[in-house]
Amino acid sequence: MHHFQFRNGELYAEEVPVRKIARRVGTPFYLYSAATLKRHFQVFDQAFASIPHLVCYSVKANSNLAVLRLLAKEGAGADIVSGGELYRALKAGIPPQKIVFSGVGKTAREMREALRAGILMFNVESLGEMKLLSRVAKRLGTKAPIAIRVNPDVDPKTHPYISTGLKKNKFGLDVETALEAYRLAQEDPHLEIVGVDCHIGSQLTQISPFVEALRRIKDFIRRLEKENIRVRYLDLGGGLGIVYGDEAPPPPKEYASALIKELGDLEITLVLEPGRVLVGNAGILVTKVLYYKETPTKKFLIVDAGMNDLLRPAFYQAYHEIVPVIQKERPEEVVDVVGPICETGDFLAQERRLPLPKPGELLAVMSAGAYGFVMSSNYNSRPRPPEVLVHGDEFYVVRKRENYARLIAGERIPDFLR
Ligand SMILES: *Cc1c(COP(=O)(O)O)cnc(C)c1O
Repeated sequence: MHHFQFRNGELYAEEVPVRKIARRVGTPFYLYSAATLKRHFQVFDQAFASIPHLVCYSVKANSNLAVLRLLAKEGAGADIVSGGELYRALKAGIPPQKIVFSGVGKTAREMREALRAGILMFNVESLGEMKLLSRVAKRLGTKAPIAIRVNPDVDPKTHPYISTGLKKNKFGLDVETALEAYRLAQEDPHLEIVGVDCHIGSQLTQISPFVEALRRIKDFIRRLEKENIRVRYLDLGGGLGIVYGDEAPPPPKEYASALIKELGDLEITLVLEPGRVLVGNAGILVTKVLYYKETPTKKFLIVDAGMNDLLRPAFYQAYHEIVPVIQKERPEEVVDVVGPICETGDFLAQERRLPLPKPGELLAVMSAGAYGFVMSSNYNSRPRPPEVLVHGDEFYVVRKRENYARLIAGERIPDFLR
């Protein structure tokens, strides 16, 4: 459920016609719905209401400050993967004691920042990282709260680029190495074991891999208990999928019920790190048609948003529904919807049947709230698009469009070239 709906043949975001926003801010732009964000968080959070739990929103999915603030006000914590995300989360008012820090490449500086902030736990992904974290904590005269990310070797049955819990992936530690890491941590005066962590992948559309991962983590916790190692938090990561096209992911309620059942009487606080499922369908990318072009073999719709604005189609062959903002009777055509970037991989859709719009008309690229703006770049020296948040009948530019000056900010021509 989301609040991008057609009324009399025109796309609205909540109470605001999308066309009106386009007139004000120009194209392309990202558009988020506050009501949708709020609803998605509440549905997810309430699904776990019967057990002790903490929802740590995965900041990397959409890290706009306004989005973070909205979720913080609903009670969300944060799953961060960098010092930059820590900075954002704190700026947005997410309490440090609700922040978990994931990622395979944490630096000493990032560890210091997170320790000083007083985060809930570090999800440690290697022995080297654990050693460094202990040294950093020692220098600060403190103890680092940790969970170790266990790689449960479960196939999430999703795109290979977004599987993370297979033996061959770079994430986490296999069960035996993880056990060894817990033993070492137990002996370390600068580490405090607080949890166990795993995250098996993204855009999962079945429940069984989550349940299987949870079962394996439970077994693992029992092995820890035999060695007198106790944990308070079981962090099951994120990964619940959304509808982009014809997927049928389980609703949060079903996902939660299956996990709660599998948890049984295990006395633990369940930590969840949802990203996409909270923000994915709460955002769209609005773009304008520039040209229609026919070659002897193909038809192209050239639009003003490219892979630098929305990378997912080029990067993961991801499907995004594309709809005209104003519905009209039109002949349908099978087209590639492509951007202005000088790359063959620069497309938003391939071989897509669309009611053929004219140059100047607006298109909405749906389900672009997650891994959209955050993956954007300045490739081809294109200023990044603005982000707009709709709230009822109002809309707010929550990140302004970049300008040319911003493109070269920080660049210098050295003296010898003057
Ligand atoms: C990316 C990521 C998430 C969020 O994944 P979604 O599929 O967006 O829910 C959660 N935890 C970790 C460690 C991640 O890397």
